[in-house]
Amino acid sequence: MRIAVFFLFVFTVCAMIRAQGPATKPETRAIWAHVSQIDGDPAKGKAQIQQWADRFARANLNVIYPWVESNYLAAVEQTDPSIANAKWDALGELTRACVERGMQVQAWYSFTYYKTRTSPEFTANPAWRAVRLDELVPDPQTGKVHPEWWSDVCPMHPQGREFQINLLLRMLDRYPQINGIHVEEPGFGYRGNCFCVLCQELFRKVYGFDQNVAPDGPEATELKTLGTTAFMRVLRERLLKRDPNLVMTANGGYNWRGERVLGRDWARWAGYGWLDGYAAQIYVDKPELLDQRTRLTIGDLAKDCQVSIGFDFSPPSIRPKSLTSEQVCRFVDVIRGAGAEGVVFFHAGIFTDEYAEALRAGPMKEKVPPPKPRRLAEKTG
Ligand SMILES: [Zn+2]
Repeated sequence: MRIAVFFLFVFTVCAMIRAQGPATKPETRAIWAHVSQIDGDPAKGKAQIQQWADRFARANLNVIYPWVESNYLAAVEQTDPSIANAKWDALGELTRACVERGMQVQAWYSFTYYKTRTSPEFTANPAWRAVRLDELVPDPQTGKVHPEWWSDVCPMHPQGREFQINLLLRMLDRYPQINGIHVEEPGFGYRGNCFCVLCQELFRKVYGFDQNVAPDGPEATELKTLGTTAFMRVLRERLLKRDPNLVMTANGGYNWRGERVLGRDWARWAGYGWLDGYAAQIYVDKPELLDQRTRLTIGDLAKDCQVSIGFDFSPPSIRPKSLTSEQVCRFVDVIRGAGAEGVVFFHAGIFTDEYAEALRAGPMKEKVPPPKPRRLAEKTG
């Protein structure tokens, strides 16, 4: 009898430790990695990839977000020969190296900005270019208008959205190890977009006055979210139709209220169940601020999707300095303590061996899988 009680006691303690042990709970441990920072020379670039992947694995990271631009995808499809590391396919090499080490790879992609004059979208149709207000209204100081930007795609054009989604689907054909899309700040990077012919015409027809009367007003905000919402909805549909295991996540600011004016309506998309996860970028050097902002995003969003928090190893307030290893470990604890389901580091180019060792010795000692998307977890139990 006493033996039975003893075993019951041991079992109960073990169960309690298991239930409370945060170190063994699934958690997203991701890093944003710029493929554009990988050397163009194949020998140097491949060595850099092995070093990155070893370092990610050393820190027990489990998800990698490689930065994939439309230009790169066009380059590997051999329509644009200008990107050196696309010639030997740095993205493919990085994906393979990370998957071999047990990590998931989800392509980090912007459908609106980080475009150039030679982006395949503009080669396909220059009318998909987003036009900024300063291209039309002269600067009061200089009296001149800004030259055409060619930096953003306007998501209001249905064929433009289709073009980009097909580009992404062909990417998934090419790299079957990539298991999802991580959408970069789904909207514009700047206010004053978009004044293309279509947007101006729609605005006038719907609201009865010109958009430049209130470029950041509630009408312009609503109109801007139509195109971005259409992109996210259709991308989600296509991904799930292709393979229900493909995940779709996004990143952006920590407070949706200030983001809708840029067309970033991620809180609503999470509410519709379109996002498996959202990573809020909180690039600060003060743990109190990190905690406060993390809690705001979680309060708004955690009911609808998994929330991860992204922080910068070299936040703007202390740049060019970087956080110490102790600060990095402390930040991971703050994010966990506030209840987030993951952490995302910005970025691979400044992720050092020292950080990796500190994480491995500290808050990321145990290897854990990323949490399953809720919709899949519900199905499989
Ligand atoms: Zn437009």
